[in-house]
Amino acid sequence: MSFESLGLRAELLRAVSEKGYSEPTPIQKQAIPPILEGLDLLGGAQTGTGKTAGFTLPMLQRLMATEKPVQGRRPVRALILTPTRELAAQVAESVVTYGRHLPLRSAVIFGGVSINPQKQKLIKGVDIVVATPGRLLDHVGQRSVDLSKVDILVLDEADRMLDMGFIHDIRKVLALLPKEKQTLFFSATFSDEIKKLANVLLKSPVLIEVARRNTASESVTQVVHPVDKGRKRELLSMLIGRGNWKQVLVFTRTKHGANKLTKQLITDGITAAAIHGNKSQGARTKALADFKAGEVRVLVATDIAARGLDIEQLPHVVNFELPNVAEDYVHRIGRTGRAGNEGEAMSLVCVDELKLLKDIERLIKRDIPKDIISGFTPDPSIKPEPIQNGRGNQKQGARKPAGRNNRNNQRPQSKARPGNQSRTGNRAR
Ligand code: AMP
Repeated sequence: MSFESLGLRAELLRAVSEKGYSEPTPIQKQAIPPILEGLDLLGGAQTGTGKTAGFTLPMLQRLMATEKPVQGRRPVRALILTPTRELAAQVAESVVTYGRHLPLRSAVIFGGVSINPQKQKLIKGVDIVVATPGRLLDHVGQRSVDLSKVDILVLDEADRMLDMGFIHDIRKVLALLPKEKQTLFFSATFSDEIKKLANVLLKSPVLIEVARRNTASESVTQVVHPVDKGRKRELLSMLIGRGNWKQVLVFTRTKHGANKLTKQLITDGITAAAIHGNKSQGARTKALADFKAGEVRVLVATDIAARGLDIEQLPHVVNFELPNVAEDYVHRIGRTGRAGNEGEAMSLVCVDELKLLKDIERLIKRDIPKDIISGFTPDPSIKPEPIQNGRGNQKQGARKPAGRNNRNNQRPQSKARPGNQSRTGNRAR
């Protein structure tokens, strides 16, 4: 099946072909026709499936088809909500890329950066807003955005938005939107809370489920390298050097751990940068840009910071430490082997983490092959110790290993809202 046969207009087909896509991905095949018809959609899909183009292309087409002549500021007609700044930036980039031959205007809105340039852009009038919820509400408060003419609402990574404590903000945003609109709702997981939200929002939605990468993707090779905790860094440096890896994403459990490992790798002569919630937006953007440009070989990330990062054709993902939440393993390895490319996900696992490894293997319903690297055989006399999460900061550390149902704990500032900057700065990590 081709993009042409999906009924997309010439300007969009041109943009798609300039991007180099020859064929729609499964989610695009399934999602584009019903969205073009104006139907609501409930999509079970995560980043890496091509879902962004899956909703952006038909959204752009509908905005063109329903454009009316307006006097004064053009109204916001499409709103895309995302949990993180990085995802907002990426989705906004896609909107620009796919809409490059159309006369539509868009703005991206997230916290942690100055509000004024965003305000100026909004005041000039845009058709599409891509936003994290907290900063969007700041703009609503300052009357720089009017959401009363929104025709299309997209909730991207709805599960992560709830995980991050955005439910109250989402409800506030929803209250500002017209009742009659098209809603596209994407989530990788479907807890009761997500189902409840979807039920409230969607009218007879078309259901689309794209298999999760852990079950579907045979293009990701997974392996566990058992190793002592104190020798992980040495093993990682050796693997990077031996394989001559040019681009590797490494996950740590904590922000402190990410900083420490980054420093050690640099000492080993390997270019590295850390990306996590304590870094300024500027530092995060630079680290990601340097990594994408190949100037930095290793990007060391925590789970929340890495969520949704779109780094094309990432060949290697390393779990320097296993995540406390088994589902995060699936999200982590979803960063590799994307859109048909081969990828390798390896986990350096010490004796303390064997329980976490079991949880992961239970979740993905398979054993991950174990491979002891010669010279790094674990010392059998070392006894397991409890895992310190070492965060010393309950804002990020409030996740229970057992699941994602402790959302209230994750809401950093449910009552006190001291100021716009700090509020959105903390939330839209
Ligand atoms: P997403 O799931 O939207 O984050 O997209 C994952 C990656 O797949 C991005 O790097 C896209 O540029 C890429 N992609 C999206 N659609 C296609 C397609 N039809 N063919 C090849 N790559 C695609």
